[in-house]
Amino acid sequence: MNTTTAMVHNFGAGPSVLPKEVFEEASRAIIDFNNTGLSILEIGHRTNLFQPVMDEARALVKELMKLDDDHEVLFLHGGATTQFMQVPMNLLNENELAAYTDTGAWSSKAIKEAKLFGHVEIAGSSKETNYTTIPKDLSVSPTAAYLHITTNETIAGTQWKQIPYDCGIPLVADMSSDILSRVLDFNKFDVIYAGAQKNMGAAGVNLVVINKNILGKITRPIPSILDYRIHIKEGSMMNTPPVFAVYVVMLTLRWLNNLGGVSAIEKINNAKAELFYKTLDSLPVFKAVVAKEDRSYMNGVFVMEDPNLEKEFLDLCKKEGMIGVKGHRSVGGFRVSMYNALQYESVVAITDLMKEFSNKHG
Ligand SMILES: *Cc1c(COP(=O)(O)O)cnc(C)c1O
Repeated sequence: MNTTTAMVHNFGAGPSVLPKEVFEEASRAIIDFNNTGLSILEIGHRTNLFQPVMDEARALVKELMKLDDDHEVLFLHGGATTQFMQVPMNLLNENELAAYTDTGAWSSKAIKEAKLFGHVEIAGSSKETNYTTIPKDLSVSPTAAYLHITTNETIAGTQWKQIPYDCGIPLVADMSSDILSRVLDFNKFDVIYAGAQKNMGAAGVNLVVINKNILGKITRPIPSILDYRIHIKEGSMMNTPPVFAVYVVMLTLRWLNNLGGVSAIEKINNAKAELFYKTLDSLPVFKAVVAKEDRSYMNGVFVMEDPNLEKEFLDLCKKEGMIGVKGHRSVGGFRVSMYNALQYESVVAITDLMKEFSNKHG
């Protein structure tokens, strides 16, 4: 967002664009929270000023995801990266097996951490295609403690379209980069986790949704701060939560709810992604990286037929106020992130620029 200078389009992969209303309300709350004369930054987390924020944030997640009573909503510290180890610490005994899918940089990191706690089998991998696809045939041991998937690989630009709901064992998902962007059967997941900073708020807090029935089967002692059961019992208030980050999430969830919820944003996200990929496929100067059916609707990854032109396009983007389009260093090229709060107009703007560039060089 930018209120003082020319229009800026923020395609950054994370932290990323949030609704303008959220920035405005959050900035007001820093000065004067709900006409209390206090800043949101100075109120106690156990006061009757903050408790309603936490309650509303949790209730909105339940409502937006249509969660049943078995599913608990937590807001925890540490980023999604902490969940890479917190999940196996709570769900995987040392002598047991967990099934993981390997779809790119993020799932690889999750796999690495899980190996510290138990055995890992790779139930499906797209390593052979250089992570440009999503594996279709999974091989999951029925005795595995859970299956882990990364629903959207933020760097590779792939996304699971067919969720393996019927894998026969508890399903765990890292949804950091597509949380609440599309309608899924959220109750069929046993753990969902997401760092807030891509699709639902400010950095500094994680959403964790957990089916409480899968807990309590672990023999190792778990430090309190990492024990899901204690966080559930304490209502996400075992220690000081990241107060401001939870507040920003609450505002973003309110915005999403007012918009019509997940099915409403899904329609907008589909329209954005369809415009983006249709344009990409129509221009010979640019080249998509990901197999058509596995393309992420959140992160559009592409390169150029002639890599020598990449700098010129990047400079043009910069000149036109298009921010954050440089590809991840491991993939190169470009990445256009189209998270929930990115407006359709921003996708129109960048696709127009791509057409203009292509006309000049085609
Ligand atoms: C960004 C990201 C992470 C890491 O999140 P942190 O909050 O920085 O720990 C994990 N998984 C996915 C899919 C991501 O996009």
